[in-house]
Amino acid sequence: MHLFLLDIDGTLLKSGGAGQAAMEAALLAEFGATHPSQDIEYAGRTDFAITHDLFAHFGIAANAGNWSRFQQTYFRMLPDSLSGRGGLVLPGVTTLLEMLSSRADIAVGLLTGNFEQGAQLKLNHFGIAHHFSFGGFGDVHRDRDDVARMALQAARQHHARETFDRVWVLGDTPADIRCARAIQAEVLAVATGHFTTSDLAPHRPDVLLEDLSAPERWLPELLTTMSS
Ligand SMILES: [Mg+2]
Repeated sequence: MHLFLLDIDGTLLKSGGAGQAAMEAALLAEFGATHPSQDIEYAGRTDFAITHDLFAHFGIAANAGNWSRFQQTYFRMLPDSLSGRGGLVLPGVTTLLEMLSSRADIAVGLLTGNFEQGAQLKLNHFGIAHHFSFGGFGDVHRDRDDVARMALQAARQHHARETFDRVWVLGDTPADIRCARAIQAEVLAVATGHFTTSDLAPHRPDVLLEDLSAPERWLPELLTTMSS
């Protein structure tokens, strides 16, 4: 069986900044925090790490109570933020998910820095949540490599009778490429997020695409070529 672990933001969809906007709105609503730092990086990072940075920036204690207040408000605000930002499912993704889901010899999971509930809200908003039943998420790990390990473990639990001959990670950032290596996976990098093919190439993904359109052209190669 083949395993595909898919990143969300910049790979499957673009939310138009809805996640970041909802986080900033939640910080304002709960803690009166304004003017979020331009220095905090979001792409490829876990929500756990981003939230820690935001709390530190605004001097908010990272205790369980504040963490819960922030998360609940973020999850409450995210759907409206998604509706207002005109995001989209990226080219080829709907076809790709249907192709992967239709095959009994392919397992499909998530490998995302999103909080699990945030991931669910984003995928629900764009109508593609039904393709996924397990994954690794950004709730408790700072390092994306640990999210990759979590995703692989979830896949093994979900498909306990199977062995995975090939594991592919699909992502849009250097961090996606790095975390794939942490689980000895192959990696397809796609330049539909913040990084161009020129940015991604030095990180040496196995496959590098401008976008995921026309998966019938490139997916068979992922399933047949041997790892380099
Ligand atoms: Mg991404």
